Amino acid sequence: MKGRFSQPSMADETSGLVRYTDSWLIDVDGRPHQGDFILRPDGDWLRSIGDEDVEFQVDGDGRLLTRAFQNWHTHLAMVLNRSMGEGLPLMRWLEESIFPTEKGLTPEFVEIGTKAAAAELIATGTSFACDMYYHPEVVGEVLAESGLRGIVCGPITDGLTPNFRAGSGDALRHVEGLVRNGSSAPDRVTFGIATHSVYSCTEELLKKAADVSNATGCTLSIHTSETRQEVADCHAEHGMYPIEYLDSIGYFQEGTVCAHCGWVTKREMRILAEHDVHAVHCPVSNQKLATGGTMSYPAMIEAGVDVRLGTDGAASNNALDMRAEMKAASLIQRHDHWDATLLDPVQTYELGVRGSKDWVAWNLNDIRMRPIGRDGRRLLANLIYSNGNCLDMWVDGRPLRRDGKTLTINEKHVFEQLEDTVQTYYAKV
Ligand SMILES: [Zn+2]
Repeated sequence: MKGRFSQPSMADETSGLVRYTDSWLIDVDGRPHQGDFILRPDGDWLRSIGDEDVEFQVDGDGRLLTRAFQNWHTHLAMVLNRSMGEGLPLMRWLEESIFPTEKGLTPEFVEIGTKAAAAELIATGTSFACDMYYHPEVVGEVLAESGLRGIVCGPITDGLTPNFRAGSGDALRHVEGLVRNGSSAPDRVTFGIATHSVYSCTEELLKKAADVSNATGCTLSIHTSETRQEVADCHAEHGMYPIEYLDSIGYFQEGTVCAHCGWVTKREMRILAEHDVHAVHCPVSNQKLATGGTMSYPAMIEAGVDVRLGTDGAASNNALDMRAEMKAASLIQRHDHWDATLLDPVQTYELGVRGSKDWVAWNLNDIRMRPIGRDGRRLLANLIYSNGNCLDMWVDGRPLRRDGKTLTINEKHVFEQLEDTVQTYYAKV
């Protein structure tokens, strides 16, 4: 797949600067600016005075620039499972719909599913995913080739995985090899270890993964306290709730990614904060699978936890669009806490773009983005609650999408492959 793209890397060449004229721009602080802007390849922006040596010039009239969204919990290739098993309760959904398809998973299926997911990320304004799925070397290559950023975490459990013997340690050795060798785009794509959950990994395996993370600096990710059953089972077995248990065995490393955190105590929140863990709110997945509990955002913030936002896989969400996730986060937090002041549009935007260095341009000639309002004050709320088409995406000064067309992925080809795979294999199970 190498060498497909004609755009020069930033190491060559050229200024890498992009100029938008007569445009709107909103950085992470949520303040709208209007005028001519320069986007730098390092992610910074400044007002244009018109004489800069730019590589790309865009007529920004009718466009809003925002930071690209960051999706902190995905199983990208599960676009293959999108909309399967609708209406089944959680365990039946897993056992009748998800697990049977994963038994026959091949690297080719993962490549097709991840390409489709990458196309969806770009088309909906997301430039980063923290992924957890099988065949991580394939996922990493697809993200690298598509120009996106990612932390690609290879899954580790004590059970059977599609290509490793149960309990052999082979899966961890394989992922450690990926971590140590790095991806083909090391500045954008790194590998990490996904210890799936406390109920699917033994204490020994969790500790081994933590040791590898400690030695290499790679990211650990784990599903944590997603369901009440998981929390009750952990307490019955260890006398501790999942985050207390993980802390007691020395699991947490700085920057560990904990997905869900729907059923956690305030004591556990303080543990997350102590270790600089990223706690990932996944409100749509939790509601779709009826887990009965979602993260308490204000309590997490009060405890000093770094909260991020994620869709989870397309199977448990039916979408990877972060605007829908931001809207759901805002609504569920207000509803759960009887507090309409929680997660206003600026706070919600900041949650969705936290850590972003990239830019997206949205189409303002779209009724969903109107009215702009005085001084552009309605722009963010429109984007989060009403949406609008993504026209351009810039990562490290490179365009992944221009004028509503993705440049780094052949979407038509991906759609055909996706349909073909689903109809020949996934439809049978
Ligand atoms: Zn997940």
